[in-house]
Amino acid sequence: MTFPFDNSYARLPSRFFARQAPVAVARPRLLKLNESLARDLGLDPGALHRPEAVAVLAGNAVPEGAEPLAMAYAGHQFGGFVPQLGDGRAILLGEVVDGRGERFDIQLKGSGRTPFSRNGDGRAWLGPVLREYIVGEAMHALGIPTTRALAAVATGEPVYRESPLPGAVLTRVARSHVRVGTFEYFSARRDTEAVRRLADYVIARHYPQAASHHRPYRALLDQVIDRQAGLIAQWLGVGFIHGVMNTDNMSVAGETIDYGPCAFLDDYHPGRVYSSIDRGGRYAYGNQPRIAQWNLSRLAEALLPIIDEDPDKALEEAQAAVDAFPERFELAYRQRFRAKLGLAEAQGDEAELIDDLLQAMADAGADFTNAFRALCDAAQGMDERFGAELAGRLAAEEWLDRWRARLAREALDPAERAAAMRRANPAVIPRNHRVEAVLKAAVAGDLEPLEDLLEVLASPWEEREASLPYRSPPRPHEVVQKTFCGT
Ligand code: AMP
Ligand code: MG
Repeated sequence: MTFPFDNSYARLPSRFFARQAPVAVARPRLLKLNESLARDLGLDPGALHRPEAVAVLAGNAVPEGAEPLAMAYAGHQFGGFVPQLGDGRAILLGEVVDGRGERFDIQLKGSGRTPFSRNGDGRAWLGPVLREYIVGEAMHALGIPTTRALAAVATGEPVYRESPLPGAVLTRVARSHVRVGTFEYFSARRDTEAVRRLADYVIARHYPQAASHHRPYRALLDQVIDRQAGLIAQWLGVGFIHGVMNTDNMSVAGETIDYGPCAFLDDYHPGRVYSSIDRGGRYAYGNQPRIAQWNLSRLAEALLPIIDEDPDKALEEAQAAVDAFPERFELAYRQRFRAKLGLAEAQGDEAELIDDLLQAMADAGADFTNAFRALCDAAQGMDERFGAELAGRLAAEEWLDRWRARLAREALDPAERAAAMRRANPAVIPRNHRVEAVLKAAVAGDLEPLEDLLEVLASPWEEREASLPYRSPPRPHEVVQKTFCGT
């Protein structure tokens, strides 16, 4: 098994990382291989099933060309700054360039202790590993930028949390693992040279257009902000709640990264929080845009010394960039929700229509996914499902009238409109209770529910017979109230 490695991060100055090999595990066993992702990366899925390759995916063998390292980073966790975090349980093996010339990190997560582990054991257990696998694949199928899982391997070793749990290693594929916290790490050390090197690296790898700008680092900041604005709008469009939007969990490449206690809305409420560690609701569903802007302000601060030599000028530029976030987000959000409502054109009156629908949904306790899906039927005159989702509220009926009047101002065939809406409103999302059930079965040794769920999540826009059980909201006793990091 050969990976065509070309490791640009390992060529950065040595203070950017600690060279560290993964720590071997007792009895590696391949639980799940992402064959389609393997093919996209130009890797042979057949070869990845062989014991030599599974040894690599478990961290028991370091393949030719890999330069294993743990990345250094800092981060604001729930608003408080931690000057050194770093990969405490992950190893970047290296980077591969796929057939289209796109570069991806290959990282092992749960691969043992590193110099950044502090008191952690460097390991992961099966539950969070499979959760990351499932949700990453779901996000990908939904068209949302995300890191992905190439494989999940059981280690044959227990990890000790409150009780012993089966250990696992995730192979993660990402456009890069540079985080807002990576910039903060060097900024906190007043290492301006490193901030510049990192910014140049990120520009070359992710934002090449910024290089020719007369202010390349301002352009970099603008583009990171733009991508995050788009990303968060996409999250809100599918009811996704990241759960731990710390700055070390925000990728500058604009991918969703570090799935911990994440969740999807069942019944809509903007204040919804699932994460057991988010006691103040800092990372609630509706707070995510504000938090993204807060995180991007931390990035802007880190970039200040390289944006302009004159501190006042730098501050002015950085402030202008960060201040543009709400408008950029609003634009992306409106566009997304316009599509969800079946509105092809922006006519300036959509905000109220969107807000009023969401308010009616909150009042009715409507299921986020199914209410929007039911609206697709209503676009073709079939109102029953929508009426049922909105619990027959008068406000919903009034809203439908206003919506219809607004639809009438666009000449579009109802069937065509409904079809377009069905590509903006998924039928299937990884519902929290379904994910929990799959993880429970997997821990008990049954991987079939995992296979079934992944299969259904790969076609989120279709209402297939097989996906029917996955489209029902949880029954009262099935509702997941809290999700856990489980690290
Ligand atoms: P996360 O919760 O994944 O965002 O991780 C936050 C920080 O804690 C990162 O620096 C991780 O590397 C570190 N960390 C989390 N779990 C472990 C663990 N089991 N062993 C060592 N470090 C960990
Ligand atoms: Mg993290």
